[in-house]
Amino acid sequence: MTAPAALDACVDLAAIAHNVGVVGRRSGAPVLAVVKADGYGHGAVPVARAALDAGAVALGVATVAEALAVRSGGVRAPLIAWLHTPSTDFAPALAADVEIVVSSGQQLDAVLAAAQTTGTPARAGVKIDTGLGRNGVGPHDWPDVRDALVRAVADGTIVLGTAMCHLAHGDIPDHPLNDEQAARLDACVAELTALGAPPDVVHISNSAAALARPDLSRDMVRAGIAIYGFSPLEREHGDLGLVPAMTLSAEVSAVKRVSAGQGVSYGHTWVAPRDTTLGLLPAGYADGVPRLLSNRLRVAVGGRIVPGVGRVCMDQTVVDLGPSTDVRPGDRAVLFGDGAEGGPTATEWADTIGTIDYEIVSGVRGRAVRRYVDSRDEVGT
Ligand SMILES: *Cc1c(COP(=O)(O)O)cnc(C)c1O
Repeated sequence: MTAPAALDACVDLAAIAHNVGVVGRRSGAPVLAVVKADGYGHGAVPVARAALDAGAVALGVATVAEALAVRSGGVRAPLIAWLHTPSTDFAPALAADVEIVVSSGQQLDAVLAAAQTTGTPARAGVKIDTGLGRNGVGPHDWPDVRDALVRAVADGTIVLGTAMCHLAHGDIPDHPLNDEQAARLDACVAELTALGAPPDVVHISNSAAALARPDLSRDMVRAGIAIYGFSPLEREHGDLGLVPAMTLSAEVSAVKRVSAGQGVSYGHTWVAPRDTTLGLLPAGYADGVPRLLSNRLRVAVGGRIVPGVGRVCMDQTVVDLGPSTDVRPGDRAVLFGDGAEGGPTATEWADTIGTIDYEIVSGVRGRAVRRYVDSRDEVGT
């Protein structure tokens, strides 16, 4: 096992595998693991491999560039990409056996043009805007796009792979729009089928719906945040048994005694109320520790939870280790992890500053160095 860097983003691939199992069991459907945004900050290729080993049947990313990066990592599994711009070049994606899911007639035309140059039918899909109001083919454009898809299937330019939509209120499982969106997608699939172009794979559910609305699972569920160990559902849905895969920890770079009255960090927003000991951590907002967490952090170090004090800086964070401490430079402090034994979590960071854990984990960057472990390797050894 490699040694952790000064700022270590350690990903437990056993947690990824476990979470894929949870999503599969709760949704009752095969799992497409979403590894966009470099695997929500966890590393797309290692996460993809771990998810596939754990039974995921397919992968999804936003962009062609992300899809090509997954292929460059040697991952051959079915892979879809669903977010494109007018300048996107689809030819390398088709050559790499990436299924392009289009959101407009213009994107479909570009895929058909690229497919015609390759000589073999391209696998393409369609994303339908059934109510999210974001990307996807909207109701006004649907008849034209539908007919173009049917023609392209009939003339052998494409094989129709995916038909999908994305929910606006997936995290509110009983919201009526979820059922309306599903009904609209089902209607579009029925039209394609009646016109002789049935899609191969239909899906609706993100993590939230996969976990709470198994009736919305069609052929597959597209799970992102849940496979990284976070639930997008409110706590009243109970403990789903997901395990956060990433632990962000920092080496304590310095420990120093200060006297009562010493202000700490820019603006002296915290002043030591008593003689105490400060610990310095090499993690700041440039690494993904939000500055809004200034004076609101909890850090696990030396078997205790200690408060972050003063402003989070670009490169550093300060913690109050208390008047007497055994913590020494070189010890490790956990900024967030799986929350076992009451330790801090990315969800707690998000709740504290009014965002979502998606933004916290996908925002780990800067000097943080990713490392992979598999806690299954430690069992019984
Ligand atoms: C990101 C994304 C997902 C995954 O959503 P989670 O809430 O992370 O499960 C699924 N589908 C689409 C279209 C997405 O963009």
